[in-house]
Amino acid sequence: MTGYTESEERQALRREVAKLAGKYGREWFTERARNGEKTTELWLEIGRNGYLGINIPEEYGGGGGGIGDIAAVCEELAAQGCPLLLMVVSPAICGTIISRFGTDQQKQRWLPGICDGTATMAFAITEPEAGTNTHNISTTARPDGDGWLLNGRKTYISGVDESDNVLVVARTEDARTGRVKPVLFVVPTDAAGLECRPIPMEIVSPELQFQLFIDDVRLPADALVGDEDPSTGSGQRGGLVQLFAGLNPERIMAASFSTGLARFALDRAAAYAQERTVFDAPIGTHQAIAHPLAQSKIEVELARLMTQKAAALYDSGDDAGAGEAANMAKYAAAEAACDAADRAVQAHGGNGITQEYGMAGLLVATRAGRIAPVSREMILNYVAMHSLGLPKSY
Ligand SMILES: Cc1cc2nc3c(=O)[nH]c(=O)nc-3n(C[C@H](O)[C@H](O)[C@H](O)COP(=O)(O)OP(=O)(O)OC[C@H]3O[C@@H](n4cnc5c(N)ncnc54)[C@H](O)[C@@H]3O)c2cc1C
Repeated sequence: MTGYTESEERQALRREVAKLAGKYGREWFTERARNGEKTTELWLEIGRNGYLGINIPEEYGGGGGGIGDIAAVCEELAAQGCPLLLMVVSPAICGTIISRFGTDQQKQRWLPGICDGTATMAFAITEPEAGTNTHNISTTARPDGDGWLLNGRKTYISGVDESDNVLVVARTEDARTGRVKPVLFVVPTDAAGLECRPIPMEIVSPELQFQLFIDDVRLPADALVGDEDPSTGSGQRGGLVQLFAGLNPERIMAASFSTGLARFALDRAAAYAQERTVFDAPIGTHQAIAHPLAQSKIEVELARLMTQKAAALYDSGDDAGAGEAANMAKYAAAEAACDAADRAVQAHGGNGITQEYGMAGLLVATRAGRIAPVSREMILNYVAMHSLGLPKSY
């Protein structure tokens, strides 16, 4: 990022991705979703073109870029009506954590498939009981011979059916001190003892959410990513450090997903408002239609600016600065996207809720951005505490 605009290279990347995704388009995407089909061709094509692993080091099959690059890819896909949630998960969360904390062998094993899209990795932290309070997760890893035995439940895990592996956040209990530490394991989706059940959702998307039932899943020692014992290895604070490394990319990607969807909604609404004529003039002539869309345009551009700031801070190595900006970007983008989708539906009148126009599906898709991967309330808690210095409320 130079000044307040992205580099020429980043802008060219956006144009290329938009062109690629434009070949597929919204109608193709929703038809796939409604027929219970996948969007694998698009996923593999962005992989072949080097966009999927653009943030991953070159020696492991990636493009050697940053979160700003992968976020641009994610946004442009969504802006063409082809939002791919697994972009947030596989290259950005799992790819970042493994690139930063995996052993060389682990990177060789998992990163190339994440980059070309042939071995996608899901991410599982949410649990039915713990919910937002991820410190309270109960999925537990116990030492078992040379390896580990994993037991627990996870919920709302995206894309498990399209993934070869899932990066599972669990806990270990120190036998001496009783202290609980988070740990991360790469679990093959076909592992014995792992059962995945789809959760019926109201989102029109080929990417599904699953419950995971993890019963005595045996894992080899090298399934563990990063340090288990804080007193050994690099001396970092166990899995917590690894986990936090994935959070800023997750928020920046979620923000980009939202701003992309918002741009798509606004483009469709503006085109419709130009065309649809009642009372002898295009409906866009009326400020009651034009102003809400203009307001959304401003809100989306502001959210994009904060998202780009967060990515630039993260890519410059300023994790702390990126944390505040990434939370604010995620919040602003989700809010802007919900409003943009609502206003776009309104501009379409009755057509706004037909399957033919496919606008109403955006209401749920954008609404999910207020809940996942971190809810608006938890972001407001973060900003109240970290930015305003207010007491912790929970
Ligand atoms: C489409 C979708 C995809 C997802 N994909 C994944 C995935 O791939 N992997 C994964 O691990 N998870 C995934 N999730 C889960 C998601 O991260 C959680 O749904 C989210 O973190 C909220 O948790 P919860 O649903 O248990 O809500 P709850 O924790 O039950 O919260 C309910 C409500 O209470 C509010 N609340 C709770 N505590 C507080 C507090 N202290 N202060 C103020 N408000 C509070 C919350 O903000 C929320 O509005 C996905 C969810 C969705 C909807």
